[in-house]
Amino acid sequence: MCGIIGVENNKNAAVLTLAGLLTLQHRGEESAGITISGREKMRTFKAMGLVSRIFNEETLLNKLHGTVAIGHVRYTTSSKSSLINAQPFQISCIHGNISVAHNGNITNFPKIKELLLEKGAIFSHTSDTEILLHLIAMSKGSLTDIIAKSLRKLEGAFSLVILKDRTLIGARDSNGFRPLVLGKIDNSYIISSESAAVEVIGGKYIRDIKPGEIIVIEDGQIKRSLIYKKVRRQTSCIFEQVYFSRPDSVMFEQTVKEARVKMGEYLAQQMKNIKADIVIPVPDTGYFVALGFSRASGILFENGFIRNHYVGRSFIKPSQNLRNLTATLKLRPIGEVVNGKEIILIDDSIVRGTTSKRLINILKEAGTKKIHFALSCPPITDSCYYGIDTPNREHLIAANNSVEEIKKYLNVTSLNFLSLDNLVKACSSSNKKNDVFCVACFTGKYPIKTSKSR
Ligand code: SF4
Repeated sequence: MCGIIGVENNKNAAVLTLAGLLTLQHRGEESAGITISGREKMRTFKAMGLVSRIFNEETLLNKLHGTVAIGHVRYTTSSKSSLINAQPFQISCIHGNISVAHNGNITNFPKIKELLLEKGAIFSHTSDTEILLHLIAMSKGSLTDIIAKSLRKLEGAFSLVILKDRTLIGARDSNGFRPLVLGKIDNSYIISSESAAVEVIGGKYIRDIKPGEIIVIEDGQIKRSLIYKKVRRQTSCIFEQVYFSRPDSVMFEQTVKEARVKMGEYLAQQMKNIKADIVIPVPDTGYFVALGFSRASGILFENGFIRNHYVGRSFIKPSQNLRNLTATLKLRPIGEVVNGKEIILIDDSIVRGTTSKRLINILKEAGTKKIHFALSCPPITDSCYYGIDTPNREHLIAANNSVEEIKKYLNVTSLNFLSLDNLVKACSSSNKKNDVFCVACFTGKYPIKTSKSR
């Protein structure tokens, strides 16, 4: 998972892109970068670490000159977490200077890379995004043709912002796996992974970029085209609303916050026979789910944890050692809230089970009497190949254990998963169940087959 943003036709393009990246920081903490262009030559600055550590007054004021910019925050899914794979990727080719920032995972990357290598292409990164630059460099025609022809060769998940001279391009794969939105600030267009980034920088969210759509923007003028003439069935990642996206971003005509409140209401319906003293969320994703649960069930909502905001999100760290360390550091139960209580504990999901187990242990150490553990999605039984770094099936606790076995392992009084049907209803607009979601990590039914999928 990554976060991308592009701002065009704006003398403050660098500052707005930077503010956008800070808003999208939750989508990736490993590296960040900005490419800027305008009258001066295109330039890219990127480094490992958090946005606030990479870009300071000096880089902003002295180096980032231009009116069109794209930015990227990275969390590794398809290759090594290293500076060489930090984005945006800027190249110089027959079409001029081009820079690309990508969110997603190109599933036919190995096959295309092999074909390109046979043709003599030289690769300097190990990321899947690099093949797109080769395809663009080898294509002929107008800018829109070049982009469309190149994207037609790719399979999988890709939301993109591309910069060429003073032109900003946005594109989204035909399944619409990863979000991408269009916004506006004064006479400038913005393209971003999430609407919250558009609004935080003072812009207005216009609409989602449609699956399979290419948007080309130059000097405030916008042109749209399609990757394929025939539109495919949309299969947007439902996990965006469960876990990844900000609660104040809009998805499917509602905020992610509204979707999470509905998840909580449905969970309360499913668990109507369970009584408890309080319902507490695991911060931050459990917060609105617990609020919905509390409103629907009448069980008192309480904050049961103090979160250390200076520790990154445990799920998106690349190695198990770092995950262990951050999970222990980041949450501390409030003894006076949980001591002696029967609680409903709400979290987004169980992946390996180790983080949940640790959380439950620390609650018990703080004196919690009974724990009913509730998750705002079904058991994760299958890996993701479209841009979320869920581990191989053998490491997914729900792929290898029944709900009863997981309950025993976690040592909780009850274990409750939101049903798939209720999750889809919660994430759909206007309480209408939409058939527009990828739910493969809960079902093993992949919208696009990969060599690794079942
Ligand atoms: Fe999202 Fe799961 Fe589909 Fe991956 S497999 S895109 S995480 S719903």
